[in-house]
Amino acid sequence: MELVAKVSAQTQRYLDMEEKYGAHNYHPLPVVMSEGRGVFVWDVDGKRYFDFLSGYSAVNQGHCHPKILDAFLAQARRLTLTSRAFHNDVLGNFEAYITKLFGFDKVLPMNTGVEAVETALKLARRWGYERKGIPANMAKIVTCTENFHGRTTTVISFSTDDDSRRDFGPFTPGFVSIPFNDIPALEAVLADSNVIAFLVEPIQGEAGVVVPNDSYLATAAGMCKAANVLFIADEIQTGLARTGKMLACDHENVHPDILILGKALSGGMMPVSAVLADDDIMLTIKPGEHGSTYGGNPLASATAMVALQVLQDEHMAENAAACGKLFREGLLALNHPLIKVVRGKGLFNAIVIEHPNKDKAWEVCMKLKDNGILAKPTHHDRIRFAPPLVITPKQIMECVEIIGRSLDEVMD
Ligand code: PLP
Repeated sequence: MELVAKVSAQTQRYLDMEEKYGAHNYHPLPVVMSEGRGVFVWDVDGKRYFDFLSGYSAVNQGHCHPKILDAFLAQARRLTLTSRAFHNDVLGNFEAYITKLFGFDKVLPMNTGVEAVETALKLARRWGYERKGIPANMAKIVTCTENFHGRTTTVISFSTDDDSRRDFGPFTPGFVSIPFNDIPALEAVLADSNVIAFLVEPIQGEAGVVVPNDSYLATAAGMCKAANVLFIADEIQTGLARTGKMLACDHENVHPDILILGKALSGGMMPVSAVLADDDIMLTIKPGEHGSTYGGNPLASATAMVALQVLQDEHMAENAAACGKLFREGLLALNHPLIKVVRGKGLFNAIVIEHPNKDKAWEVCMKLKDNGILAKPTHHDRIRFAPPLVITPKQIMECVEIIGRSLDEVMD
């Protein structure tokens, strides 16, 4: 069983530095990357890997996409940051572009994903008090068990993951938890007139790519509308072509009241996130009531526009749909005893490993690394497979073969 890797002296030097000088808030695979292009990354020893995590779906467009990189560098040479104390000549173009693309009146740009989630929560609460007439401090937001929406104190207040919460309390009140993919549970909680919003990941990513029933999103959105409750879609990981459509909500023709985007919005160049909503919601926040120094900066705005353009020009959603189907079919055809479940949509997939040893999925990932694929377990027994959306059908078949071989090599 290979839980501790044999690595080169050079790799070990980098691992030691991080261990000594960095906080221990992650548990990475022992591989040190130094270059990336398209679906591939190279480590410091020059070994090439297929990247099957894509920076948790931040590099949907592939590593260092040349068009995004050009736009990023051109803007970086001209003007990077003004703060929102002044206007800049890129932000308005970005705002017009992204709102037209997704069909909303307005956008509020932020940086990291969790900041965009926080923004959506504040917008929903403000809307609840000002538009829905909820009594002061009584607003409730419904969230799902096993969710992942980020790491701030408020956002972990409605996490159900012990590791994310232990000894970080006291927590922010005002959240109600229901099981994911459970329409009767949503129906019951919507009976409470103080409920103002339902925040949901269309597919639960960190939970291990948990795909709900086909009509779940449309039914939930319809019920929220009937109850005058905002339907908030966190598409930070599922959005931007990952699942085979521009948004995962598009599979069910759902137009959320509030849409949250992040990660691939910059193609991996820098943190860029965005919250989209119509005026009735967005204009409840007035000048001075919310913001971020870097939010909407010209470098981010220029980069995000091209990142969105590239997704469309290169038909990445269509490629994700086709390659994803091929990938799942390939994994199922392996008929491997270690694979309990294959699930996913587009190029957002996972397998569940069946084995009494709870470190087996980690062992599989170590073997995959040796064989040239980088992937990471989540919740011990699940391995997410989310390569950049520029992967080709031929590469998919090559990777299915590598995965099959790696599984064979860790059989007891
Ligand atoms: N929401 C979802 C669905 C995510 O998957 C993530 C990150 O994985 C976040 C929010 C938080 O994004 P960030 O890490 O950029 O704050």
